[in-house]
Amino acid sequence: MKLLEEKILSCGKVLPGNVLKVDGFLNHRINVELIDALGEEFYRLFSSYTDINKILTVESSGIAIACAAARHFKVPVVFAKKGNNANVGRDVYSAEVFSFTKGTSCTINISKKYLGPEDCVLIIDDFLANGEACKGMIKMIEEAGAKLAGIGIAIEKGFQPGGKELRAMGIPVKSLVIVDSMTDDSISFRDDD
Ligand code: 5GP
Repeated sequence: MKLLEEKILSCGKVLPGNVLKVDGFLNHRINVELIDALGEEFYRLFSSYTDINKILTVESSGIAIACAAARHFKVPVVFAKKGNNANVGRDVYSAEVFSFTKGTSCTINISKKYLGPEDCVLIIDDFLANGEACKGMIKMIEEAGAKLAGIGIAIEKGFQPGGKELRAMGIPVKSLVIVDSMTDDSISFRDDD
């Protein structure tokens, strides 16, 4: 998606450890007009998946894009909560997820009230690196007996294994941009198919 590539090139910063910082428009200050365009593009990419009745993401950076997509699908967003949050209650699906950016593991939880066998879920997230967050969400979807329609990612880092592994599992993974390589002063993208 050209618009997102241009925004990454003009505002993104490559940090040590293969981290792309996009807090000028996605992860800290949010460019709502851009995020809405991303949501619309996810809707276009998954428009043939007519059964989708829920969008799932993980707090916090996936929430804005998930909401932008949900507005077009006209379905609710559920986000997995991090840590042992008394608010979620005890009747939860849980998964252990290793955070690429923090370098630590944490538990993510979804209340059983908000995910069940009646659901057909689209996962949306801001980044795909090693696929840990997505695999945690997939585990909970399976535990709930729900169906996974696919995974929509804003920025996939194609030089990390997550995308390849999830596609090898037969899951439709659609990324708005795929970063093929990045250095301190250059970022290159994979051509659209
Ligand atoms: P994964 O679980 O696929 O290894 O990493 C995805 C999660 O880690 C995303 O939810 C995102 O929040 C975070 N993440 C991974 N790589 C990056 C990155 O390069 N930049 C930022 N800002 N977040 C990242």
